[in-house]
Amino acid sequence: MSSGSFNPFKMAQQQFDEVAAKLGLDEATCDLLRNPDREYHFGIPIRMDDGSYKVFRGFRIQHSDARGPCKGGIRFHPQETVDTVKALAMWMTWKTAVVDIPLGGGKGGVICDPHTLSMREQEAICRGWVRQVVKNVGPVQDIPAPDVLTTGQHMLWMLDEYEKITGMKSPGFITGKPAGFGGSLGRTEATGYGVVYTIREALKELNIDIKKTTASVQGFGNVARYTIELFNQYGGTVTAVSCWNHGEQKAYTYKKSNGIKLDELLSITNKFGEINVEKAKALGYEILAGNDWISQEVDILIPAALENQVNAETALNIKSSVRVIAEGANGPTTPEADEIIKSKNIWMIPDFLANAGGVTCSYFEQVQNNMNYYWDKDEVLTKLDRKMTEAYHAVSELSRSKNVYMREAAYLISIQRVAEACKYRGWV
Ligand code: NAD
Repeated sequence: MSSGSFNPFKMAQQQFDEVAAKLGLDEATCDLLRNPDREYHFGIPIRMDDGSYKVFRGFRIQHSDARGPCKGGIRFHPQETVDTVKALAMWMTWKTAVVDIPLGGGKGGVICDPHTLSMREQEAICRGWVRQVVKNVGPVQDIPAPDVLTTGQHMLWMLDEYEKITGMKSPGFITGKPAGFGGSLGRTEATGYGVVYTIREALKELNIDIKKTTASVQGFGNVARYTIELFNQYGGTVTAVSCWNHGEQKAYTYKKSNGIKLDELLSITNKFGEINVEKAKALGYEILAGNDWISQEVDILIPAALENQVNAETALNIKSSVRVIAEGANGPTTPEADEIIKSKNIWMIPDFLANAGGVTCSYFEQVQNNMNYYWDKDEVLTKLDRKMTEAYHAVSELSRSKNVYMREAAYLISIQRVAEACKYRGWV
């Protein structure tokens, strides 16, 4: 979903190149890691409900399996591009490495708009996607998961197709399954809660009482909602949330200075996750432009929607009150914006660390699938908190000891771990 001339893959490569140079990686390792191991591009022919046939473009990118099977979500989006999927696959490699789980990085996508497709058509796309890559994915090769506009239902259709073709029960083929169908308790909350665990640790280090903090969030989907939920439980106040309005094809920011109420906003949200503007107004919310989430006078900014949102232009609007940015979304900040954020002395919790809770819990889901024994929610969330807290402190300590930006510290740790795996395997 790249917009204009912004190319997320080029940005991911630029970020990699800078860190690779600092680590002094040799040319072959750089060549290997700045590109995906494997790319699959395919057409998915579907018979539509009206009897016509349509072909949807699908992708699976396996960036690196040096540390374990590839792992990453499948996105359904009308503006999906292969370069977005390639960037996200690379970020998955760094993400699984930074939280130190034995998995690599992959990502998939289909160019389609689920808003305009019936459930039957979506099911056909899911099954078609699996048929195209069945030989190259699986519990010990590459494990998909839900991502933007895909859900546990999509995962179950994909699992069912995979099991039909292989003739085996393999719940570990895919994660993000609903609880009771091989899913893990806590997976729905995991990414958002993980964001908050890292914010909690950052605030402790900065000597800021979380109960006295305010935050502004971009997005009102899975990540944003559970971030808001746990942040509120810790006593923090969210004063603004921005959300996409499909009908009007633009975003709005919903503001309440004394704190938005999650349940209230959810009660006026439709099945596509859009907040009803008129009802929000009636409930006393101030309705601002979509981009205004970033210019709020708050302590914490949480971009939890899309990539390329904090860029050279929008970052200039960040207020001096902001102390922490926690990236719930993947790739929300451009390298130019990073420079502005550094100059404003804002503590950055980079995407592949902040939002690693989802993949960490997906890993727990696989572990439970392999044992065929399921943990209770407290056990899952306690293990998740421990993993996220450890990963946060490893990055933060390196950032302080080497006096480098947090994103750079996270990259240094991840790329070093993956490069070592390639070296010890004898690949380069
Ligand atoms: P989602 O589809 O549930 O929600 C996306 C949200 O973004 C929606 O609320 C939508 O209204 C909002 N949005 C879209 N365009 C917007 C705009 N221009 N302005 C404001 N809001 C806008 O998706 P999600 O699962 O919450 O994922 C959000 C981000 O987090 C993505 O970058 C995704 O890759 C990343 N992520 C998700 C997970 C996960 O477990 N779900 C894990 C790691 C990273």
